[in-house]
Amino acid sequence: MPRIATLLGATAIALAACAGAVDPAASQVNASQALGAHRLATDAPAQSYGSYARGCADGLQPLPESGPTWQAMRLSRNRNWGHPEMLDYLQDLSREAARIGWAGLYIGDISQPRGGPTSSGHRSHQIGLDADIWMLPPGRLDLSRAERESLSSVSVRSADQRGLTSHWTPSHAQVLRAAASDPRVDRIFVAAAVKIEMCRTATPADTSWLQRIRPIQGHNYHFHVRLRCPAGSRDCETQTPTVAELSNGGNGCDDTLRWWVTDYLNPPPPSTRPPSTSPPEEPAPRRRHPREYTLADLPRQCSQVAQ
Ligand SMILES: [Zn+2]
Repeated sequence: MPRIATLLGATAIALAACAGAVDPAASQVNASQALGAHRLATDAPAQSYGSYARGCADGLQPLPESGPTWQAMRLSRNRNWGHPEMLDYLQDLSREAARIGWAGLYIGDISQPRGGPTSSGHRSHQIGLDADIWMLPPGRLDLSRAERESLSSVSVRSADQRGLTSHWTPSHAQVLRAAASDPRVDRIFVAAAVKIEMCRTATPADTSWLQRIRPIQGHNYHFHVRLRCPAGSRDCETQTPTVAELSNGGNGCDDTLRWWVTDYLNPPPPSTRPPSTSPPEEPAPRRRHPREYTLADLPRQCSQVAQ
């Protein structure tokens, strides 16, 4: 049986390569439409192809809509599909949240059944290894489908982006610490004010997990967990630079973090910037949003996944 599986796998790869080579139509097909049209995953073994912001996946599985310590939200989007490692991680973290004192977790978007770019929202979430977790501690875990559409999360960050709101609690820090301490995690994105707060009490012992918590725009209503490429996902691209590189081996509680509440919010006037020695450049080409990608922009396996 393993031999047959290997042969089948090799055939599938050959077919996929073939499809990429002989099918110029792939460059005409919008990837978010082709992948997003599927309501179910492929039944191939779980594999993440490409990068978090340019890829797709085989064999994703749906996070059960409700469990003892979690509920999946916004079910109408059908984005509660993840790599099995992500589903295990989320269920483990929800139990950890329950130990910390929350009822569990409200879990937002993971991926579409076959991954790929989504028609709205996210640039990433394309390979079943990204998940959004609401900052709102669950009040109940028996929300109806309709309630999961209408209920909103809460912002833990103030409107001026410099501080936190009364929705932030010490237990949020505990949940984030638990989330980032798991070795399956590559990084977690939060609003800068959240990380600044967590840095306030950090000790050297906190370096390894705190390093994984990264400031970014938004992410005040939810935090975003990104897992490492799982073992055996040979075609999954590890993100670079690593969090260790980004923080020079430290915890990231440095000037690059404070930038988010200084220059990012109040850019220095042009006169204080160092004079430019080179002539003005041509405007940079517009960066395409992943929803504009064609199948030819994605790893070759994605043409097969979209079939
Ligand atoms: Zn996200």
